[in-house]
Amino acid sequence: MLAKRMSRLGTETAFEVLARARAMEATGKEIIHLEIGEPDFDTPRNIVDAATRALHDGCTHYGPSAGLPEARKAFADFITKDRGLDVGPENIVITPGAKPILFFSILALAAAGDEVIYPDPGFPIYESVINFAGATPVPLPLIEDRGFSFDPERLKALVTPRTRLIILNSPQNPTGGMLTRADFRLAADLAAAHDAWILSDEVYSKMIYEDSYVSIYSCPDAKDRTILLEGHSKTYAMTGWRLGYGVMPAELAQQIAKLQTNCTSCTPGFTQIAGIEALNGPQEESERMMAEFKARRDVIVDGLNAIPGFRCLRPKGSFYVFPNITQTGWGSDRLASALLESAGVAVLSGTCFGRHGEGYLRLSFANSRQNIAKALGKISEFIHKAGKSA
Ligand code: PLP
Repeated sequence: MLAKRMSRLGTETAFEVLARARAMEATGKEIIHLEIGEPDFDTPRNIVDAATRALHDGCTHYGPSAGLPEARKAFADFITKDRGLDVGPENIVITPGAKPILFFSILALAAAGDEVIYPDPGFPIYESVINFAGATPVPLPLIEDRGFSFDPERLKALVTPRTRLIILNSPQNPTGGMLTRADFRLAADLAAAHDAWILSDEVYSKMIYEDSYVSIYSCPDAKDRTILLEGHSKTYAMTGWRLGYGVMPAELAQQIAKLQTNCTSCTPGFTQIAGIEALNGPQEESERMMAEFKARRDVIVDGLNAIPGFRCLRPKGSFYVFPNITQTGWGSDRLASALLESAGVAVLSGTCFGRHGEGYLRLSFANSRQNIAKALGKISEFIHKAGKSA
């Protein structure tokens, strides 16, 4: 028998849909993949070369749990320059991907009796890990009419003396929305008033299309109660390398590093060396990737808005769109399944991201413009043929 806590652990449905889509492909069906959240580009060559050099130089041993000193310094220097607040190596913990920072932070800060506020629709791992830690998940609805920001009054109403942690994410998975300075300000004030922590998931900070980026560090007073989450997976097409980091007060960094000692020991050294090159080396390839994402965004948004019953905001960041499909008459889960089974297009139901995702689908535009156009044609054809679901 499994430990009871396992029944509280959720998952990322994207991986299940991907498995189903791959099984269909194995039977000869053509599937267009718009379900998975990873850049379809290769990691830039200079980053791969830096890792290869490090491997040849013998960077193949255990390293410090919090990260290599030179990588902690480089990541701290990057944050200081990029976000405009001074942080040092002692504030950085480097992990295999951004996800472990979520896992470790929630485990370190929240337990039974504590409440954790998190965005809904939001990255499903938040709710899963809050539950796993035995804390109470408190969803903060994101609202389409507000560009997928939250209602300030709602956040105020959700914060209680039991609130231990407020999770924010901007740009957002799955909506592509971004929070404003006022949103961060309110969260920072509420966290201070209730002596709570903030976890600001900023892994898409460099994947933005229009507005300049606003970070939780736009509220300098929040720094001492904040874990800022960053990573290389999305910006540098390094999902499979597993490289992310948290920026936090030094005392908390020591505790998070202790969790890492107990779990993975450390992040591979050559990956961290590659991560330094990513931040300090030429940025042209990453910029080219973003220009292509922007072109794809416009193709997918315009295409979806031309389909009867679909209404799609133009995302300000990330590589996701989150169209409202209520006017099609279909529920989200049924439409996502039907599109996979009947149209050969793999997308995710909005409910994979929480109950406030009902009425929406999530499509990733990490696929070629040609495939996106083809998928749009198939979705449109399906909707025209199937009409309203009876
Ligand atoms: N946070 C958000 C909002 C994400 O969308 C993801 C990945 O999809 C992560 C964190 C995890 O990133 P990583 O692959 O670096 O662990």
